[in-house]
Amino acid sequence: MKTLQEKPQLEETVTIADFEKTFNSSSKTQRKSLANEILIDTYELLDFKDTGYKPTHADYDSFVTDFSAYIRQKVEPEAYRHDAQLALAHVRAVQLPTSRKFKTLERLADNVETKEQYQAVVKTAADLGDKGIKRVYNNLQGLRKRLRKGDESAIEEAQIPSAMIQNLIHDPYRDLKSYKEVARLRDGLKDKKNPNLKEILTALGDATMKNIATGLGNPHSELMQSFLRRYGICSDDIKDIKKGRFDYHKRLKRAKRSLNLYKEIFQNPKKLDTGIKDFVNAVALNTIRKKDPEQKFETGNMVLDYSFRTRTLDAILQELTRDACINKCEQSEPRCCTRDYFKTGVPSQILAVQSFEAIKNKAHLKISSNSNGDCNYHNFDGCKLTLFKSPICLGHICSVPRKDLPGSDEGGRPRSAHTKLCRSFINSMCEIRSSTLNVPPDWYMKSRSSNPLSPFPEVLNRLDDAIKYGSELVKLKHGEKLGKQTKKKTKKSKNKKK
Ligand code: SF4
Ligand code: SF4
Repeated sequence: MKTLQEKPQLEETVTIADFEKTFNSSSKTQRKSLANEILIDTYELLDFKDTGYKPTHADYDSFVTDFSAYIRQKVEPEAYRHDAQLALAHVRAVQLPTSRKFKTLERLADNVETKEQYQAVVKTAADLGDKGIKRVYNNLQGLRKRLRKGDESAIEEAQIPSAMIQNLIHDPYRDLKSYKEVARLRDGLKDKKNPNLKEILTALGDATMKNIATGLGNPHSELMQSFLRRYGICSDDIKDIKKGRFDYHKRLKRAKRSLNLYKEIFQNPKKLDTGIKDFVNAVALNTIRKKDPEQKFETGNMVLDYSFRTRTLDAILQELTRDACINKCEQSEPRCCTRDYFKTGVPSQILAVQSFEAIKNKAHLKISSNSNGDCNYHNFDGCKLTLFKSPICLGHICSVPRKDLPGSDEGGRPRSAHTKLCRSFINSMCEIRSSTLNVPPDWYMKSRSSNPLSPFPEVLNRLDDAIKYGSELVKLKHGEKLGKQTKKKTKKSKNKKK
């Protein structure tokens, strides 16, 4: 019999029956600890609140039966809690960050368990949302007035990205009515000794301010899109707000959404009990793999098998690319998140978990299904998903972080000794990007097949490659840092000696 202590070597040989035997033959303390690991992982994946369930079972079968029944009974209350939080996610962006009423509502939403409590939260959220949206609109009108009067502080308050202002400064003529006037200002600027230079510059400054004000009046302008993005609304919404047709109460009417998402995750809507038990068993198998990450065995559950690797790769990317993306990105918002890429090549089961994760991470979501062009999970502090990114998001690495990979010289060219590793890593990332998770039959066949040679879904192999090369690069990065530090120290000690 294979035990946890023996470290199972062959992926296909580890089954839930092995886990059961190990669990049953473990000491009371070990059993408790294993059960707690399963509990924590299950809650994390489903975003369930820990309400104090205590496993005290002597054998695995009674634990899994009892815990699955507990989860079954919590599904509906948790679904209402999530629906309430989803309503808040749509209102969050139009609230003042310090709003005490909104904070109270957040606390209330976190304790929702019934339909009535959910409806009460949605009603208050919609009231707050309607007030918030009016405030946003009035603020927009006020900013436009001030810009027309030449009040420069309004530019800062409108939080217009500096790249957009630069464009307007370089092309301030475009909204001036008369070509004669444009020509006069342009010609006047050419003569550096022109006595009217000051007057011309002032006229250009005024033109720029007016252009910004005009842009903030046009729902389809880039300036307006950038302004609206912060509030989770789009150009069509602003037209509705102008005509007094915008109503949060109508838009938040979508009860029972999360219950359907849970059914999606458990993959067996007709026999929820069986679906939940299968899920908990898959989490249990995953606890073995966590103890030995080198193992390649799969649980046959898409959420767990994919998420195990995305977490590992995400931790590697934090080390390799995060700094470049935060500090050296050359794109204006929404950076590379210009579409709902989280949906690309991803099956409904992963979409369901993503939705819970975004809400848990306090995303503010667009209220309208029409898009301003950016991803629904892209917020001003970045992506709200960390555990379940789609392959296209996970594998994206543009030229900026590529240049920052360890082993690159200052011009971004990989140094010869490291070229191969960098290239292998980048290639594997590109392969992930072109993979798709929309292949449930792969998972199905793998989980049902008794043939140990039945292939892994391809995306998992590609993730494994990126993890392998990425880990090498992380080691290299730490080695380089160490090298630099030692060099510095040697220099210092040499100087001292001198
Ligand atoms: S991948 Fe490139 S575009 Fe995207 S955030 Fe990083 S640096 Fe910016
Ligand atoms: S899911 Fe995240 S990384 Fe992907 S496009 Fe959306 S915000 Fe960007």
